[in-house]
Amino acid sequence: MQPNLSYAEIEDRYTAGVYPKRGITVVRGMGAHVWDDAGREYIDCVGGHGVANLGHSNPDVVQAILDQSRTLITCPEVFHNDKRAQLLEHLARFTPPGLDHSFLCNSGTEAVEAALKFARVTTGRTGIVATMRGFHGRTLGSLSLTWEKAYREPFQPLIPGVAHVPYDNLEAAAGAIGEDTAAVVVEVVQGEGGVRPGSAEYLQGLRALCTECGALLVVDEVQTGFGRTGRMFACEHHDLVPDLMCMGKSIAGGVPMGAVSFNHTVRDAMHPGLHGSTFGGNPLACAASIAVLDYLERTGLPRQAAEKGHYFRDRLRSINARSIREVRGLGLMVGIECRTKVQPYLQALMEKGVLALPAGSTVLRFLPPLVIELEDLDRVAEAVAEVLA
Ligand SMILES: *Cc1c(COP(=O)(O)O)cnc(C)c1O
Repeated sequence: MQPNLSYAEIEDRYTAGVYPKRGITVVRGMGAHVWDDAGREYIDCVGGHGVANLGHSNPDVVQAILDQSRTLITCPEVFHNDKRAQLLEHLARFTPPGLDHSFLCNSGTEAVEAALKFARVTTGRTGIVATMRGFHGRTLGSLSLTWEKAYREPFQPLIPGVAHVPYDNLEAAAGAIGEDTAAVVVEVVQGEGGVRPGSAEYLQGLRALCTECGALLVVDEVQTGFGRTGRMFACEHHDLVPDLMCMGKSIAGGVPMGAVSFNHTVRDAMHPGLHGSTFGGNPLACAASIAVLDYLERTGLPRQAAEKGHYFRDRLRSINARSIREVRGLGLMVGIECRTKVQPYLQALMEKGVLALPAGSTVLRFLPPLVIELEDLDRVAEAVAEVLA
């Protein structure tokens, strides 16, 4: 290590430089709390951008990783594996009815990439309908569906045939979905786009339109999955059954993993050699993910997220501050739409020991670990009231 340089300075010197930095060095986490290198404690409402649903260093996940790392870390999918078999069975049980097959990968964007490839192959079509303010990842295929101009423009041209339509607007979707549409890709609650829940009529309407036109409905549950919105998957709020469902973030308790689950129609279009991933389905991630699903089921954490989310939104709504335009969300996916840019608020919250994140320029977003205590949510609401007053 270089003498006289802080970790922040060393990182800034050697980093790729593509991330805006928040100015603290986080070195430890436990439950809903993290600590910086000066020993200062924070309530973590960034939650690893939605990765830490079960809390930092969740004991079940830690034990699964320890046990599996002593047994077998890597095993390509050309061999069968005990942990992978168990996870695939788990996913078939927890995902919406009929989504009995899964492709395992290593990130959310890879899950979306796989969904795009599988939709093309299954339908023989190439058109994609995505939504304004949607976010689906940063690799070139997923990026083509992502709406934010600043993410897309430096990398053009992206893949052709993608139409962006206004979110939660069924008429606009109906106008865009046609005979060339392979897939309609949508979030149940837009995350990066500002914490905007879609209506049941809209999402059910998309389901009907896709069925009618022979297009596949792809729901991106990368951020909404694994209890975040108060159900195991946000689809369950609306009895929504997509053809493919993308997962990532909390799927393996912090171990990098992604997955796309799909129905038998898509499965019928697959054949060996069609797609693959070196790390996909590795036993370490599979063991961690099994621990995640078992923990969510055993503790009823999704239901807790629903109750805590109600409590937290009520607390936020009782704040009397002109700068707040709206408090919205589903479960513990919570946004505060402000009248001005939120960057200064994020900084002020951090100084009060609360880490939150933006969703667009004017929305404060909170994705706390679902294990967070009510007292911590009180403290967050108090800090928000002080900062926004
Ligand atoms: C984070 C996110 C992604 C991308 O996941 P990565 O693991 O960062 O590639 C895709 N879709 C949604 C809805 C997300 O929130």
